[in-house]
Amino acid sequence: MTDSKKNAESSGKTIDVLLEEGRTFAPAKDFVKQANFSDPALYKEAGKDSVAFWEKCASKLDWFQKWNKALEWKAPDAKWFIGGKLNASYNCVDRHIKNGLRNKAALIWEGEPGDKRTMTYWDLYREVNKFANGLKSLGIKKGDRVAIYLPMIPELAVAMLACSRIGAVHSVVFAGFSPEALKDRINDMEANLLITADGGYRRGGVIPLKNDADIALSDTPSIKHVIVVNRGGFKTDMKDGRDHWYHELVDAAEAFCEPEHMDSEDMLFTLYTSGTTGKPKGIVHTTGGYMTGAYTTTKYVFDLKDDDVYWCTADIGWVTGHTYIVYGPLSNGATVVMYEGAPDWPDKSRFWKIVEDYGVTIFYTAPTAIRAFMRWGVEYPAKHDLSTLRLLGTVGEPINPEAWMWYHKNIGGEKCPIVDTWWQTETGCILITPLPGITTTKPGSATVPFPGIEADILDEAGNSIKVGGGFLVITKPWPSMIRTIYGDHDRYYETYWKKYNGKYYFTGDGAKRDEDGFFWLLGRVDDVINVAGHRLSTMEIESALVDHPDVAESAAVGVNHEIKGQSIKAFVTLKDGVEPGDGMEKKLKAHVVKMIGAIARPESIIFSAELPKTRSGKIMRRLLKDIAEGRVLGDTSTLADPNVVEALKEKYEED
Ligand code: ATP
Ligand code: MG
Repeated sequence: MTDSKKNAESSGKTIDVLLEEGRTFAPAKDFVKQANFSDPALYKEAGKDSVAFWEKCASKLDWFQKWNKALEWKAPDAKWFIGGKLNASYNCVDRHIKNGLRNKAALIWEGEPGDKRTMTYWDLYREVNKFANGLKSLGIKKGDRVAIYLPMIPELAVAMLACSRIGAVHSVVFAGFSPEALKDRINDMEANLLITADGGYRRGGVIPLKNDADIALSDTPSIKHVIVVNRGGFKTDMKDGRDHWYHELVDAAEAFCEPEHMDSEDMLFTLYTSGTTGKPKGIVHTTGGYMTGAYTTTKYVFDLKDDDVYWCTADIGWVTGHTYIVYGPLSNGATVVMYEGAPDWPDKSRFWKIVEDYGVTIFYTAPTAIRAFMRWGVEYPAKHDLSTLRLLGTVGEPINPEAWMWYHKNIGGEKCPIVDTWWQTETGCILITPLPGITTTKPGSATVPFPGIEADILDEAGNSIKVGGGFLVITKPWPSMIRTIYGDHDRYYETYWKKYNGKYYFTGDGAKRDEDGFFWLLGRVDDVINVAGHRLSTMEIESALVDHPDVAESAAVGVNHEIKGQSIKAFVTLKDGVEPGDGMEKKLKAHVVKMIGAIARPESIIFSAELPKTRSGKIMRRLLKDIAEGRVLGDTSTLADPNVVEALKEKYEED
């Protein structure tokens, strides 16, 4: 019996481990030679005294006043770098102007229609200062909340930095969200001002952002002013006294705005989670700790160098964009590529054209995108020269080993290390990840905790599981951790701390640890499937399905079953050009049995061209479960495309 099986039986409440993945990829010698970090002793050192490690990291930022105490920890409340004063925008722009990077490209931006713009650090500095003064001219001051509802245009980064410059708390709302979702978020944080645009391009069409915002604004009493960026000269009504054009404010503003000296624990931003599991939560991050995490992990995990061209394809509406498009890379003085539109516009090779055109060296995307690339076929990346790429990353969901291998081969040319980075809106920065010059990677594993981070896998009773599956927790405070849920500290405790009595941060994710101490994320604990006393992770069943050459994507859910407790239903999207046809269901069931065993055999498979996803591209299993159990659908407000669920529901009811 394996250790994991023993564990599962003794506690009854862990997660079984079925999938074995034996491939390993050691860092290439050439990569190690040039890597920012290549000495494994780093982990030991940071582990010995993690607070000292984080202090060393924090000292790489510019502080107006140094902290007098590194950490005050009274679970679940952490304060980092107490007494320290700094400004996030100063760290992202001013210090580079002073250190010789004034003419370096900060943002290389491309709009969906193909329009281009490059902002040097000097340009960015000028624009941030002026817009900060523009915000001040409308009465915005330290502690006020500013909602931002913008497409992926440079003004989005400018707006965030301008807020942080004057100490206003920004809250970016993804531009694909509905007026209703925008309204809820504005009201939850009682925002004083909204920044939006006349519109934005998406898949050849125009999203009428200002018109949508106007609908939301009919019921948002806290908003006094609205600033509108002219993205495309789209028609919009400007309300006298309330609405102001961005360019007019900036043109009229003074060139310099003194950066506010923010306390390390002053709030930097709030951001609502993607809403995969339910009602979105307003996650609160503070200045000193968040900036330390963002700066440090960007440098370490992406092996960032002065001449890199770095592209993270996330939308800034999600935390990945906050930390790994704006605050992390810009505080490092990096050159950041930013793209407004869809990956398949005007055709499915758009991303690869961007990589070629700008000579992108570091590329960071999500498994959902990688699975779409797989489905579309290798001919698209093959059309472009991707040889400038030197490092790849992934984030957002567990990556199926087959998707990892596809990425490695077809995008990375078998020469780029892949960093599979696990983290959450709540964690502020990457917590479990390879370091590309040190870690031997395994497809599907996020590998090990970042230096200075301590994670564990526990059973229900709180016992540590050395080898096997269970609940992922973080056992020590870290600088960029969530401080609270906006306006609801009780919910903060309930959600993240109560499970282990305030002792550990509970992530809500399942994970397994292998014999080498590597972590493998198994999906959300709420999604675990219980078949005849075996607790199976969605991830392993889905990976077994995706391992089949005809399958592009899959989602497994547990459905109530009289005898077994639950039975497995699998939803499967086949690769382009493959027909479901007779026998496919049988073939796929047999494949799962072969890969991981009879216990994981899906009772039925439903074929669907699309799976329901959040706006950030994550599969929403809870809705599939609602469909499979014939229930009324739960909260659908964060769905990317409600039609997908409706169609599936109909199909399911017919079958
Ligand atoms: P909500 O909390 O509102 O349900 P969400 O959890 O999807 O939304 P995010 O904070 O954007 O919101 O996502 C974090 C989650 O994404 C993690 O808890 C984990 O489930 C998943 N995740 C992120 N990166 C990885 C990764 N590399 N491997 C596995 N899972 C990942
Ligand atoms: Mg979450």
